[in-house]
Amino acid sequence: MGCDTGVKQKRFFIETWGCQMNEEDSEKLSGMLESMGYAKTDIKKEADIIIFNTCCVRENAELKVYGNLGALKNLKKSNPGITIAVCGCMMQQRGIAENIKKRYPFVNLIFGTNNIHRFPELINNAMQSENTIMEVEDDEGEIVEGVPIDRKSKIKALVTIMYGCNNFCTYCVVPYVRGRERSRKSKDILDEVKKLGQDGYKEITLLGQNVNSYGKGLDEDINFAKLLYMLNDVDGIQRIRFMTSHPKDLSDELIDAVKNCNKVCKHIHLPLQSGSTRILKKMNRNYTKEEYLSLADKMKSKIPGLAITTDIIVGFPGETEEDFEETMDVVQRVGFDSAFTFLFSPRDKTPAADMPDQIDDDTKHKRFNRLVDLLNTIGLQKNLKYVGRVVEVLAEGISKNDESKFMGRTDTGKLVNFKAGLDVTGKIVKLRIDEAQTWSLNGELVD
Ligand code: SAH
Ligand code: SF4
Repeated sequence: MGCDTGVKQKRFFIETWGCQMNEEDSEKLSGMLESMGYAKTDIKKEADIIIFNTCCVRENAELKVYGNLGALKNLKKSNPGITIAVCGCMMQQRGIAENIKKRYPFVNLIFGTNNIHRFPELINNAMQSENTIMEVEDDEGEIVEGVPIDRKSKIKALVTIMYGCNNFCTYCVVPYVRGRERSRKSKDILDEVKKLGQDGYKEITLLGQNVNSYGKGLDEDINFAKLLYMLNDVDGIQRIRFMTSHPKDLSDELIDAVKNCNKVCKHIHLPLQSGSTRILKKMNRNYTKEEYLSLADKMKSKIPGLAITTDIIVGFPGETEEDFEETMDVVQRVGFDSAFTFLFSPRDKTPAADMPDQIDDDTKHKRFNRLVDLLNTIGLQKNLKYVGRVVEVLAEGISKNDESKFMGRTDTGKLVNFKAGLDVTGKIVKLRIDEAQTWSLNGELVD
């Protein structure tokens, strides 16, 4: 038996809250740390660097961060050598970074969403300093390309195509913490996606708060539909997804692109938020119930088999029983495949936080439960229609619920569990669906 005389490799742990953009930011932080010689660990206690990448879109997300920070106090006491960093959207909110510095003085580094590329320098400074290093930039600055990235999956990749948001929906904090809308040059995106294709990636998800505005302000003749046609030609990539599309400006050109591009998945995530025109107006969403319904109808008729998913907020200030019934009506009429549902959460700086007639928690929860029941019933009906059909599924790996099975998704985004005699991870397989549940399908390989 030899003895290990090597220096132990230093490790980092990252916890990420929030949306896929935060996930992609964490993949960049991982990439930078790996270039600095660190290795990733999933065990917090074993890490030399702990990073919390935060979200502030709803209060719950913030509370989780504070709870987790509190729990680090003892870890830091027993192991003062660890470096703790906190970053992400919460840091971009007025007063939060200062508050964290005061309440959790053991945090070594605080930085925001606009200076992620400066992380290697910041973490080095933090390691050499007795005090908390804090660098939060209000100004978005130029988009920085070429930051190393360590992606979680070897099959599916997240690709941010634009940053920020100009829409200012009255409930939403994103425009305040992620700044104004700005798009990456199409060539930079194309180069990244070509590289992903060469590296064996099969699926990409293009990210932006409102991908329909992609290209505005760029010095080239490009929009989101054109970008899709461009990426559809990239070798190796077999599936293209995107989110999110704002219903107010989803063009016919984009609908045609989704229909015509064979690699673009027949699935659209189209956030409804509310089915009541009155509430939509207060939300500053810029479409009516009828406009949403006719857009959904148009898309369904142009793109056969299209899956539509959505986001809905329950209990926006002033929401009456009638307003809520309008939401239930849209849910019924569109027949969403699935939805993310949220209780309205008042956010600092946003106009909705100060609107009169805030809805009490009990009413919010009751409406929420009714909505979820309806969505589940419709989701199951939709899934049952798959039984007996043969579908193509991109196998992503072992199923989380049953280790004897693989899991993957249809191009419409349905999760399918299935058995296979050999490792099919990363392959598109044909499956006959033999069972449907509310959240997933079961299938069997067909030759
Ligand atoms: N840009 C995306 C959404 C980003 S936030 C879009 O427009 O679709 C993701 C979702 O969080 C939103 O669609 C909304 O449903 C929800 N959300 C945002 N702010 C919220 C708040 N204050 N309370 C509850 N839900 C909220
Ligand atoms: Fe928030 Fe509206 Fe922008 Fe989406 S479009 S990020 S909900 S302000």
